[in-house]
Amino acid sequence: MRIEGAIVRNSNEFEFADLELDSPRSDEILVRIMAAGICHTDVAILEGDIPWPRPALLGHEGAGIVAAVGADIEDIRPGDRVVLSFASCGTCEQCSAGAVSYCMDFATLNFSGRRRDGSHSCHLDGQPVGASFFSQSSFASYALARRSNVVKVSSDLPLAMLAPLGCGIQTGAGAVLNRLRPAPGTSIAVFGLGAVGLSAILAAALIGCYPIVAIDLHDQRLDLARELGATHVLRGDCAALLDELRSISGNGFAYAVEATGLPGVMASAATCLRKTGEVVLLGVPASREIPFPSSIMRGATIHTCVEGDSNPHEMIPRLIDLHHSGDFPFEKMIKTFDFTNINAAVEAMKDGSVIKPVLLIGEEAA
Ligand SMILES: [Zn+2]
Ligand SMILES: [Zn+2]
Repeated sequence: MRIEGAIVRNSNEFEFADLELDSPRSDEILVRIMAAGICHTDVAILEGDIPWPRPALLGHEGAGIVAAVGADIEDIRPGDRVVLSFASCGTCEQCSAGAVSYCMDFATLNFSGRRRDGSHSCHLDGQPVGASFFSQSSFASYALARRSNVVKVSSDLPLAMLAPLGCGIQTGAGAVLNRLRPAPGTSIAVFGLGAVGLSAILAAALIGCYPIVAIDLHDQRLDLARELGATHVLRGDCAALLDELRSISGNGFAYAVEATGLPGVMASAATCLRKTGEVVLLGVPASREIPFPSSIMRGATIHTCVEGDSNPHEMIPRLIDLHHSGDFPFEKMIKTFDFTNINAAVEAMKDGSVIKPVLLIGEEAA
C-alpha cells in the first residue's frame, strides 16, 4: 500500500515521500498512525551519530488505530486504539524471565532496519528503506508492528498524549519505579531534564522521595521540574554544583539518575552519592569511556537500564492509570506539532524549548 512518510535521505533533515509499505504478514499488525513522539534516538540517527541505513524511516513512539491484522493475531482487532513500543521475541531466556527490554533479539527486532527475517517492509521507488525501526517506523501515515510492541489502550485520552509513553516516558519513570525503587523520604538527584529525566522526577514525586533535586542548563526545564515535583533545582553550570548538592543532601544522595550521557555529568552523578548510594545511567554516552570518581568505592551501585526495565504491556497501562488518578501529569512535557512541521519540532527539542514534541499525523474520528 502507498503511505506517506517523513524520511531521512542525504541531509540531516526530514523530507516527505510516498512509500510502498507491505501488507501485514500473519504475525504483523497494520496501524494507522495518529501521532508519534520524537525521541533522542530519532535525532541521533537523523544527525548521523548512530549509523542507520538510508533512506531511513524512523519514529518509535507511535500511537494509532489498528487498520488490519495478520492471520495469527487473535486479541487485537481493527479499530483498536493502540500505543506502540519496543518489540521483543517473547521466547528467549530474557523474555521468558519477563525481562523483555533485554530480549536477546532486541537489536534485530528494533535496530536492524529490517524485519526479523531480514526482509524489508518498506520501499521507496523500488529501493529498500531502512524501516521497521523499533518494529514500527511511525513517522508515517501507517506502520507495521508486531504483537509484542502493540499495547491496546482502553483510555479515552488523546492518542497524541499517549504516544510518548512507548519509549521516553516509560524509560525515565521505569528507571525509578522498576529499578531504583526508592523508599518514601529518600533523597534523589536527577541530572538532565529531557523527557527521560523529567519522567524520573515524576516517578520520584509519586513515591514521595525527599529531597528531589533537578539539575539542568535550561531555566525553563528547571521551572517545569519544580512543577512536576522537584523540591530543589540547580543549574548544571553553577561553579560549585557539587558543594550545592552537598548542602542540600547532607551526607550525599541515596539515589541519582543520569540522563544526559555526558561523561562529566555521569561523574558528578556518581560523586554526589552517599555511601552505598545508587546511580542509574540512562543517557547514551558519545564516548566509549566513562570516568568514575574513586568515591564510588564506598559501596555504591552503578545501574544501567534499558527502557526503564519496562514490560510495555504492564508499564503503559500502569502509567495511564496513574495519570487518571492525578499522580502522573506527564502531559505537561508534551507539545504537539503538525506532521508537516517535523523539522521545526526537532529544532524545538534540540534548543530546549520543547521537552517532548509529538507529531499529529492522522485525525481520529470523533
Ligand atoms: Zn526475547
Ligand atoms: Zn526512544
